[in-house]
Amino acid sequence: MPTTETPVLVTGATGFVAAEIVKQLLEAGYRVRGTTRDVARSEADGHLAALSGAGERLELLEADLVDPGAFDTAVLGCEYVIHTASPFVLDVEDPQRDLVDPAVNGTTSVLESVSKTEGVRRVVLTSSFAAMSGEPKDSPWSEDDWNDVSSLDSGAYAYSKTMAERAAWDFMGDNDRSFDLVVINPTGVIGPSIVPRLNQSHSVFVSATNGEIPGIIDLSFPIVDVRDVAKAHILAMENPGAAGRYLCSAETRSMRQNFELLKEAGFGERYKLASLPLDNALGSVLVRLVSRTQPRGTRDFVRRSLGRNYELDRSKIRTELGLEFRDADQTVIDTMTSLENWGHLGKKTKVGAAPSRR
Ligand code: NDP
Repeated sequence: MPTTETPVLVTGATGFVAAEIVKQLLEAGYRVRGTTRDVARSEADGHLAALSGAGERLELLEADLVDPGAFDTAVLGCEYVIHTASPFVLDVEDPQRDLVDPAVNGTTSVLESVSKTEGVRRVVLTSSFAAMSGEPKDSPWSEDDWNDVSSLDSGAYAYSKTMAERAAWDFMGDNDRSFDLVVINPTGVIGPSIVPRLNQSHSVFVSATNGEIPGIIDLSFPIVDVRDVAKAHILAMENPGAAGRYLCSAETRSMRQNFELLKEAGFGERYKLASLPLDNALGSVLVRLVSRTQPRGTRDFVRRSLGRNYELDRSKIRTELGLEFRDADQTVIDTMTSLENWGHLGKKTKVGAAPSRR
């Protein structure tokens, strides 16, 4: 049951992860105040207004991460703030302007607005596993790790998330603040989306059905279901003992594992699933060569991830927040079913775009 009658602020409420957080907060009886840069676009998309309880307990305000003071009004009267807004796109024109500035300045801006009010008790920040994983290492990744390899020129999205999380901890510093900070670091988030627009982490599944990915590549992704990520944020908000960072991930899966599962589930009969076996030494040489023709963000991602396997230590989130993760096979199937229902599969929908038909 909700512990507060005051609204929970969710920044970037329209997005894939945040919309699921809004849904679960409303289901739990909370009042929710969401921010977006464009209320009219959100209303046209309609996914937030359609949520049960939205009519009575959801309000939307406009706020842009790069406008100083943009969150001053939004935080007023809130006890909890869940700061999720941050651009998640791999391919951008100008990484500083399009990724780092909104991620870092936006995080600082939200924390500054919070520190000007009395009421907020906790800020839960959506960081990323991208802020943890650096050079390959033998021991499992955990909350002790920081990404010290990404830069503006290589892995700019991961760099934006690292810098934003660092800025948040620096802001808290040793200051005696009237609120605390808890951080969730999800790995690749997939699972069913309540948002019609295509998000970055789902785009690889779409690319596998529209010819953009020619074959099965030697890539492994640690994944987590969006429903578990949303739950993690709410547990981190409600649990008085929650502290520090929480690596949030179900399992590391290879592209081959996912594709074999999808074929078994019948998706290969409806879509031309990539099948050329490129997850071998020769295939990886070819993939490296072809990646040179890709935009910088995609190229960096492929090169950095090719042939890597990620072992993760997920004990902190399990022990301290009591989170148990959903079955990863089901998450992969639910992802494809959701993308199919939104009409994205087999199409060349761009990240951030709405489906051409439902
Ligand atoms: P989406 O693109 O679906 O959502 C991102 C949200 O950020 C949008 O709703 C957008 O709101 C908001 N946003 C972007 N730029 C600005 C800006 N300049 N000012 C205000 N709001 C802005 O991405 P996800 O839901 O996938 O990601 C949400 C969060 O989770 C991000 O912080 C991301 O880094 C993190 N994350 C995601 C992972 C994933 O695999 N999906 C993995 C790990 C972390 P609007 O357009 O309405 O203004």
